[in-house]
Amino acid sequence: MLKVVKFGGSSMADATQFSKVKQIVLSDPARRVVVVSAAGKRFSDDHKITDLLYLCYAHLKYGVACDSVWQIICDRYTSIRNDLGLKLDIEAELSALREKMDRGITQDELVSRGEYLAARLMADYLGFDFLDAEMWLKFRFDGTIDQEASYEALQHAAEGHKVVIPGFYGTMPNGGIRVLTRGGSDITGALAAAALGADVYENWTDVSGILMADPRIVKDPQPIERITYNELRELSYIGAQVLHEGTIFPVREKNIPLNIRNTNDPDHPGTLIMDEFDDTDSSEQRFITGIAGRKNFTIVTVNKAGLSSTVGMLRRILEVFEKHGVSIEYVPSGIDCVSLVVATDKASACLYSILGELQKEIKPDNIKVNDNIAIVAAVGRKMAYRSGSSGKIFAALGENGINIRMITQGPDELNIIVGVDNKDFAKSIQVLYDSFVR
Ligand code: ASP
Repeated sequence: MLKVVKFGGSSMADATQFSKVKQIVLSDPARRVVVVSAAGKRFSDDHKITDLLYLCYAHLKYGVACDSVWQIICDRYTSIRNDLGLKLDIEAELSALREKMDRGITQDELVSRGEYLAARLMADYLGFDFLDAEMWLKFRFDGTIDQEASYEALQHAAEGHKVVIPGFYGTMPNGGIRVLTRGGSDITGALAAAALGADVYENWTDVSGILMADPRIVKDPQPIERITYNELRELSYIGAQVLHEGTIFPVREKNIPLNIRNTNDPDHPGTLIMDEFDDTDSSEQRFITGIAGRKNFTIVTVNKAGLSSTVGMLRRILEVFEKHGVSIEYVPSGIDCVSLVVATDKASACLYSILGELQKEIKPDNIKVNDNIAIVAAVGRKMAYRSGSSGKIFAALGENGINIRMITQGPDELNIIVGVDNKDFAKSIQVLYDSFVR
């Protein structure tokens, strides 16, 4: 059994968090491969080390002294070392880096040092080997990751070892350091889990999993117990602030379960993400996995007698939008009409041209435009085989005085989407949560 475990910045923020990480890792012998972020925030207006390193680089670039920022970085890592009673010569590491900064360093190399130093400290503290990401995470010159070469190198380097790996960076073919996108340690962890064929990839953060609804709208929403990768994609597309599906492609490719866990509440099972679940064994009665939404859509409705029986009509309508580079989010339709749902900010600059061209091309009986529409989606794989799901959703919204302006459903029956007025956005999410979760 192998668990690849990744700890985010808040889990690495100070010595207290380091000690929680140690307890978590050592409590399960399967947790042999640990990937870490740079030290993050200890409290809400604290600084992330990575942000400070970017700031240092900006100073260097413009020839301005960065000493005060640099000192904050040094102090943070030195105090973690001291508070944990470790022997690692962090001063030597820091002064070598400082000299390199004076000689000339790339931005990527400098900002990667947050992860590097955090991993050195964690390896020392756990008694694990430090395995530098430079040794195995390989980029191509075009900036894409060479998965095959990286996997092979990691399998070779980690074989038979307990290791701590810094997240966020790897090397270019010419040996230079290159970083992933911000938050990229999630990708490093997923790559390591995929390379080593882990039984599970645990992503430890400061919340007990993915929440069923936006906590800015619903007070204390519950975390999702189990969610499929497809549901996760639906939720993040429609606006949920969740782990981005794109950051976890390596584990999805290998069908490795991903478990989001909370370092500050290690007994909580968190959220489990897999390709599919056998829901027949689940005592879970809820048919909704999560609720999300976005505001500010425009619905353009084209009416023309016989529209759906005229060959090529839909294509001609879509071409008008395509010509203006406006992507269409949803297309609910009737016999004599079709609605095109588009993001207002993408369409507003060319809306009149689009309407003019539709008029000319389609010669419709009527065109209607509705602005200030919000999209709210209830996502849940169980809706497909539960009769009455949509009826219950519409009834709950109607009983609470919310006027539904549009209804659509993906053909895979993973979601039910309603359009409501922007002013009803938060209320709709709250009503759905109260009706089907609480
Ligand atoms: N430290 C990097 C960042 O702040 C990467 C990460 O934490 O995943 O973006």
